[in-house]
Amino acid sequence: MAPARSHPERRPLRGGPAKLSEASIYRAATSLPSLPACFKLIRLRGRCQYSAGRTPGLSFPGAENYGEAVGDLARESLRIGEVELRALEDGIFTTAAGNLLGDDSLRARIRGALQPVLAVTAEHIVLLDAGFGPEIPPGLKESYTLRRERSLPQSLREAGYEPEDVTHIVLSHLDPDHAGWALQERHFPNATVYLQRAALEEAAGMPAGHPRREVAASARHAAEEDWAVLLEGDVQIVPGVRVEVRPGHAAGHQIVWIESGGEAALFTGDLAPSNIFLNPDLISSADTDPEAARRNRAEILSEAERRRLPVFLYHEPTLAVARILRTEKGGFKGVPFEG
Ligand SMILES: [Zn+2]
Repeated sequence: MAPARSHPERRPLRGGPAKLSEASIYRAATSLPSLPACFKLIRLRGRCQYSAGRTPGLSFPGAENYGEAVGDLARESLRIGEVELRALEDGIFTTAAGNLLGDDSLRARIRGALQPVLAVTAEHIVLLDAGFGPEIPPGLKESYTLRRERSLPQSLREAGYEPEDVTHIVLSHLDPDHAGWALQERHFPNATVYLQRAALEEAAGMPAGHPRREVAASARHAAEEDWAVLLEGDVQIVPGVRVEVRPGHAAGHQIVWIESGGEAALFTGDLAPSNIFLNPDLISSADTDPEAARRNRAEILSEAERRRLPVFLYHEPTLAVARILRTEKGGFKGVPFEG
């Protein structure tokens, strides 16, 4: 167990208006099973439009800034009591929307950030989720591309730590864009990986070739070698870092509470990973229990709004740390967290 090094310098949080990000578009698009469902998205947000221009596809406000966004992800940090938190990065992925959004959108590309969070306590160095890994898994290579200015290990080093320093890795669930560096092989040789047994069991039962099933095999291997722990419910991982099971996107999906000195922050995993998914009514076909996802998202965001908590959004490139506000229509939105 490595002692905490000097804490990274606190960086000012980025200002500016919240945008509908490409990460959120990705989540929405991959969650919607049919074209009518896409129209549901359009109606819900009122911000996505069909493009009838020269390039068939969907146009999304804000998406045109993607090129500038690479290399300039929001690397934000803040202190919660004795715990230093920093959003790291593992690149931005791109995938096609066509299969889900109809023939006219075959050329549409949707993108999402990968932003694991580093939590440095007095005694421990904890990672919350772990990006895509060294490369995209074979089963996703044809449908995903990945652009990186820096990988998760490089991003960690920029924050002042080596992979050997990490003592704990908490996985919200077993999607490969969250578990990559944690389980494909042991990139953090002194870290123990914490996931819920229910997440492993559900993922292991997925159809052959499903990305979660591949990750489940790695997780089972890690558990057999005693460097992964299968949790059964809510638990404190280390002082200041507590997981709470909030299923819906996956069985055993867990969110992470950072609590220290009377303050708190929240890491939502894929329960509410981006601005668009701050809408509890946006039901995703990727969620294995949509009603639980809706209920848990509404409950957690209500609490975050009421307590004015900083919330880390894993897939939101320009808003890694958000404050949650209620919208006039009863939903939620994220704005830059100003402390
Ligand atoms: Zn995800």
